Amino acid sequence: MGVWLAGKPLADRIKADVAKKAAEYKDRTGRTPGLAAVLVGDNKASQVYVRTKEKTSQQLGFASRILKLPADIDARALEERIRELNRDEDIDGILVQLPLPGHLDPWAAVAAIDPRKDVDGIHPVTLGRLVQNQDAFKTCTPQGVLELLKDFGVALEGKNVAVIGRSLIVGKPLAVMLTNENATVTVCHSKTRDLPGVVSRADIVVAAMGRPAFVTPDFVKEGAVVVDVGINSVTDARLAGELFGDDPARRKDLADKGYTLVGDVHPAVVAKAAALTPVPGGVGPLTVAALMKNTLEAFRRLKGLD
Ligand code: NAP
Repeated sequence: MGVWLAGKPLADRIKADVAKKAAEYKDRTGRTPGLAAVLVGDNKASQVYVRTKEKTSQQLGFASRILKLPADIDARALEERIRELNRDEDIDGILVQLPLPGHLDPWAAVAAIDPRKDVDGIHPVTLGRLVQNQDAFKTCTPQGVLELLKDFGVALEGKNVAVIGRSLIVGKPLAVMLTNENATVTVCHSKTRDLPGVVSRADIVVAAMGRPAFVTPDFVKEGAVVVDVGINSVTDARLAGELFGDDPARRKDLADKGYTLVGDVHPAVVAKAAALTPVPGGVGPLTVAALMKNTLEAFRRLKGLD
C-alpha cells in the first residue's frame, strides 16, 4: 500500500518563504511585487482559478489585479491591454488565464506578454530557454510536480518517467524539465499505442490528460510514484461512488456543489504505487505556489534587487 502524497504542506512552506522575502523587500524598498491576471469572458472554472491566485497573492503581501475583459474582445484589443501591463511599472508578473474564447489565439496573446513578466512560464522565449536548459521561469504546474518529487526524495536521474499528455502548459515543459534532470522520459498522448504497456514500464508516472480516473492499477508498475495532475469535475453520483465508496467528503461535495473533483488517476492505484498525489490537494496548490515564486523572482529582477 502506497502513501498519499499531499502537496499542500509543501505549497504552504513555499508560500511562507515567498511572503517572508516579499516583506523583506518591502522593508528595504517600500515596493511590493505586482501580479496581473487577464481574464477574458465568463468561464466559471477560470473565474475560480483567477480568484484563488488573487487571494493567494494578497495573502503573501503582493499587489494583485484582475483585468476582466469582455468575451467578444478582438485579438488586437486584447494584445494592446497586455502591452499596457507590460509598460506598467507596478506590475511584475502577467498571466493570461486559459482557455480563451474560441475566436482568440491563446498563444498569440501569451506571446504579447513581456517575457520578463511571463510568470506562468509559457511564453515562447521562456520555453525556448527551458529547452536550452538556461535560466528561465519554470512553467508553474511542471515546476510544482518537480518540487513535489524532490521533496518526497524521489531521485530523477536515470529513472524512466512516463508523462501522459503533451500540452504546452503541462506535458511538454514537464518532459523538458525532467530531461534536464537526467530522467529518461516517454511522452504519451492520444495516439500512443498500448498506453498501459508503455506506462507500466515507468518508475514515475505523471498523468495530465483531463480524463477522470483513466489511469487504473493495470497501467502502473508495482512501487511506481504516480503524480496526478488532472482536475476533472464529476457530477455523476454513481461514478463518484465507484471511485470513493461512501466517502462523506465526496458525498458532501456532490450534495453542496453538484460535483466532486477527480484526477486522471483512479484512487485504487494508491494500493499498487509507492505514492500517489490526491485530487484535490496534490499538484494544484503547488501550481499556485510556483506562480507566486515566479512573481517574486520577476519583481526581484525587474527592480534590480539582490
Ligand atoms: P489538454 O491541453 O487537454 O491536453 C491533454 C493531453 O492529454 C493531450 O496531449 C492529449 O493528447 C492527452 N490525452 C487525452 N486523452 C488521452 C488518452 N485517452 N490517452 C492518452 N493521452 C490522452 O490538457 P492540459 O491543459 O494539459 O490539462 C490536463 C489536465 O490537467 C486537465 O485535467 C487539467 O484540468 C489539469 N490541470 C491541472 C493543473 C493543476 O494545477 N493541477 C494545471 C493545469 C492543468 P493529444 O495531444 O493527442 O490530444
